[in-house]
Amino acid sequence: MHVHDSLVELMGNTPLVRLRKVTGGSAPQVLAKVEYFNPGGSVKDRIAVRMIDAAEASGELKPGGTIVEPTSGNTGVGLAIVAQERGYRCVFVCPDKVAKDKIDVLRAYGAEVVICPTAVSPEHPDSYYSVSDRLAAEIPGAWKPNQYTNPNNPRSHYETTGPELWEQTEGRITHFVAGIGTGGTISGTGRYLKEVSGGAVKIIGADPEGSVYSGGSGRPYLTEGVGEDIWPETYDREICDEVIAVSDRDSFVMTRRLAREEGLLVGGSCGMAVVAALRVAAAAEPDAVIVVLLPDGGRGYLSKIFNDEWMADYGFLAPTTEETPVGEVL
Ligand code: PMP
Repeated sequence: MHVHDSLVELMGNTPLVRLRKVTGGSAPQVLAKVEYFNPGGSVKDRIAVRMIDAAEASGELKPGGTIVEPTSGNTGVGLAIVAQERGYRCVFVCPDKVAKDKIDVLRAYGAEVVICPTAVSPEHPDSYYSVSDRLAAEIPGAWKPNQYTNPNNPRSHYETTGPELWEQTEGRITHFVAGIGTGGTISGTGRYLKEVSGGAVKIIGADPEGSVYSGGSGRPYLTEGVGEDIWPETYDREICDEVIAVSDRDSFVMTRRLAREEGLLVGGSCGMAVVAALRVAAAAEPDAVIVVLLPDGGRGYLSKIFNDEWMADYGFLAPTTEETPVGEVL
């Protein structure tokens, strides 16, 4: 019989799909690494299993222990799936800008969720960083994976995402484009691709306008899961050849186009990464092979990005830029 004993075995090995419509016939191929095929619905399954395996091996996480993590949802789902398989309790801490649907998903998996204000500094006692630290100290047997400092976050991508892309493109990948949140995806995948290609593969970060990675001050933006107001340890500043800033509007309009034109119902950071990938494609040689990583699916954003009223409230449906000229007919 062809049966898997656990969903954990199905994490990683996601498909690569050619974008055909939103590219507008650009000569370089733009290939999407579709991470919603992971059992938890996002790229974060990869880091969840790698961080838990390592904590079990080091003795930091013991049988019956509790996983405490600040997460915007996707890491939580991955951790919750692995935790269920292995009998751990999960307590997650989320900023209040996270879509309610995503928090409901965490609770549906049996996790406890604590919600904190977005509009405070990371040092503030109510910030989601501070609250998760306090809970990790108070709960007996607690272990905090800390995806922002855990080297197993980028390492999981060095060991899985990078080799998968090299194999799937038969070594023909020329550019890798990904959003930057913790930086784990771009740092781990990017390092692998640079090493295996002798430095030939260009690594391009995509970042919401306002975030520090693209030179911003950390001012707020609406795109979830990407951008930072601090520099996390998991981001390797040596890896990116370029970081492209994308507005919330361009990200969200492209996210809607991906659903309508490519059948890819994906999250807002995916639209952001695709806008950056198309800018790379416009400047690349015709035989370039550009891979863009799409971190998660779109069902957690139905009440925001895919909701016309929400988009209109922010003025995101009016046409303003070259990449997204048709906002009003979406
Ligand atoms: N997009 C989404 C929706 C995410 O949740 C994350 C992770 N925070 C990212 C992109 C960025 O991935 P990374 O943390 O590996 O930089």
